[in-house]
Amino acid sequence: MIDFHCHLDLYDNPQSVLSEAVERQCYILAVTTTPLAWEGTCALVGGAPRVRVAAGLHPELAATRQSEVHQLCALLTETAYVGEVGLDGSKPHRSSLSVQREVFETVLQACKSAGGRIMTIHSRGATSLVLDYLETYEKSGLPVMHWFSGTQNELDRAIKLGCWFSVGPAMLRGEKGRRLVSLMPPDRVLTETDGPLARRGHSPLMPWDVKEAEVVLGRLWEIPSSEVKHRLSLNLRRLVSTGAPGQLEQA
Ligand code: MN
Repeated sequence: MIDFHCHLDLYDNPQSVLSEAVERQCYILAVTTTPLAWEGTCALVGGAPRVRVAAGLHPELAATRQSEVHQLCALLTETAYVGEVGLDGSKPHRSSLSVQREVFETVLQACKSAGGRIMTIHSRGATSLVLDYLETYEKSGLPVMHWFSGTQNELDRAIKLGCWFSVGPAMLRGEKGRRLVSLMPPDRVLTETDGPLARRGHSPLMPWDVKEAEVVLGRLWEIPSSEVKHRLSLNLRRLVSTGAPGQLEQA
């Protein structure tokens, strides 16, 4: 099982979520919402197998934490993974878009200078704008569009730009999400939960809840669940060997 976008540090009981995920042999990319959470999340994860930590600055926090972008850039020497980063153009955050853009551009430039990173990217309400930046900074690394919610044209453009996609149970619950996923190249799709921020009813999604996404992917791809798992695991290997050589061997 692969949860390529999980806010491990934000669960009420992160240590027990981590232990259960390790027991269930989940691969996890633990994204962070501020560079200040990097150290604590690394300490939490310790040497846990199959778990990696991404350094991020969430676009919803960019307005109040703009100055922390420099700490984020400094962390690039320590990790192959960046996220959660991106832009949010939805109503509550639209007013901070100009600050968000400065932050995102600084991060992309730093990733480019560092030789490229695997980036997990938020683009709610700002898909075209995010794609504009990815086009400008094509050497910034491998973008993984998390919970992609753009139009079909924007999806086509993202595919042409070489983007990957991480899709989860919450996204796949809706008709629009399922339709978008059915149009994504299956060899560039990974699963995610966005837990604990994404929920099922009142319960936060757990990393192993990606199995719900696997079931839907099996239906969309018209293949049995064992093949879904195999395909996702090949995808993860290819992503990591391209974007972060040497990282998977350590798992
Ligand atoms: Mn998230």
